[in-house]
Amino acid sequence: MTDKPGKIKVLFASAEAAPFAKVGGLGDVAGALPASLLQNFPDEIDIRTIMPFHAVVKAKNPPNKKIGEFSFQANSQQLSCELFISVIDEVPVYLIDNPYINHDSPVYHGDWQLDGMKYASFSLALLEALRYLDWKIDILHANDWHTALAIHALATTYKDDPFFAGIKTVLSVHNLPYNGWGSQDAMNLLGFTASTDPDLPDWAKFTPLPMGIASADKIIAVSPGYSREILTPDYGCGMEGYLQKHVDKVLGILNGIDEEQWNPADDEAISHNFDVERLSERVKNKLDLQKALNFRVDETIPLLTIVTRLSEQKGVPAILDALPQLIERNWQFALLGSGSPQLEERARKLAEEHSDRIACFIKYDDVIARVLYASGDIFLMPSLYEPCGLSQMFAMRYGNLPVATATGGLADSINDYSTDPQSATGFLYTEKTTAGLVQSLSLALDTFEDQETWQSMQRNAMTADFRWKTSAMKYLDVYKSL
Ligand code: ADP
Repeated sequence: MTDKPGKIKVLFASAEAAPFAKVGGLGDVAGALPASLLQNFPDEIDIRTIMPFHAVVKAKNPPNKKIGEFSFQANSQQLSCELFISVIDEVPVYLIDNPYINHDSPVYHGDWQLDGMKYASFSLALLEALRYLDWKIDILHANDWHTALAIHALATTYKDDPFFAGIKTVLSVHNLPYNGWGSQDAMNLLGFTASTDPDLPDWAKFTPLPMGIASADKIIAVSPGYSREILTPDYGCGMEGYLQKHVDKVLGILNGIDEEQWNPADDEAISHNFDVERLSERVKNKLDLQKALNFRVDETIPLLTIVTRLSEQKGVPAILDALPQLIERNWQFALLGSGSPQLEERARKLAEEHSDRIACFIKYDDVIARVLYASGDIFLMPSLYEPCGLSQMFAMRYGNLPVATATGGLADSINDYSTDPQSATGFLYTEKTTAGLVQSLSLALDTFEDQETWQSMQRNAMTADFRWKTSAMKYLDVYKSL
């Protein structure tokens, strides 16, 4: 691949990128943001993505070509890598394989030591891939702890290496609590040195995400709200002191969604396509789902939905506690999610007890996700914290109005009914408890009965501007400013 003179050259490094590998919102972002930058600013940017050649990507087997092999010394380890190239929406995507990636492993093991080896080695390999390709970049854009160590390595091991001279670094923080703790053995094995930044707390000096944060030129939280929250003890995960002191390098940019991939007007996963002009078609999806789930088939019964990782962060316990408290009210509930075995069990049990009105799909399934977005009336997102959140945006785009906590990206993307009914796209509440959820959901259920107001909120939600272009422009400004 030849260099394109005059363009900013950016390597976008991520653990996952849709559609090749997607576990959560990071995959959506890594699939869509580089593509949006390239499509909207083709004369200004040469952006390419790099990710591990995970087993799931191999299983999908997207068109790809092997472009070479290289090896390098990391401490006492000689690491051999294979490099492949593929493409997502015209963005070149480099796929790296090495002995810590090349086995039947999930994107994330959930075992910190295994994940540590996978991502610490990937962080070095992605830099060595640049050398192998002889591609001199202007910006390295890393994401979360998995690739944060590449930024640290540039500032330490590779500091005096002329090939990497002058590279500026951006680190997007999609989820601050996931800091890579447990990777210490892997880092020792591969010869990483601790950060010497005196502003970092001691525990953070040899923890991947803080090490990247300390070395990065810019830290981008995935919503303006989250960029403010991480400066506080409640959300800062012990990094608030550092981030306050270096607030000049912190900013927030709200994620967007791919409005072509997520379009109810032509989404093939749903039986009855619709848009704001054909809103009356929408309810047919709900009626079909009610029938399929053996619920009462009745369009006046509000259908509550959730599509999520089953975790504490997502406020799932509050939902499971709130629904029995609202049992006297008329609603049905469909859940799609997987994650914590304990929450999976609780959800299954609730569905068994109320099989006439509660159904649970305990799995990861993109088609069911789309069906729920398109069929539900109310989308529950009572997150304890939410760096950005994409599910609420997909829900709104599909006319499914969120009931959500007023935190992070939720508060940035949802217009609250109680604040201004005219511009409302959902319901926000501040008290992050079961009682808070019960109250907010009750208001949503009341409002659903006034279908005129409801449909006007649906129109607001479906036409809200969540295009990536708006955010991509802000990223381009950051790249240019460095
Ligand atoms: P997070 O990244 O914290 O998990 P986001 O709301 O940013 O949360 O993104 C979640 C993404 O994963 C959305 O695209 C959502 O549709 C998808 N998702 C979550 N759980 C499931 C599931 N069980 N099946 C299908 N898609 C899911």
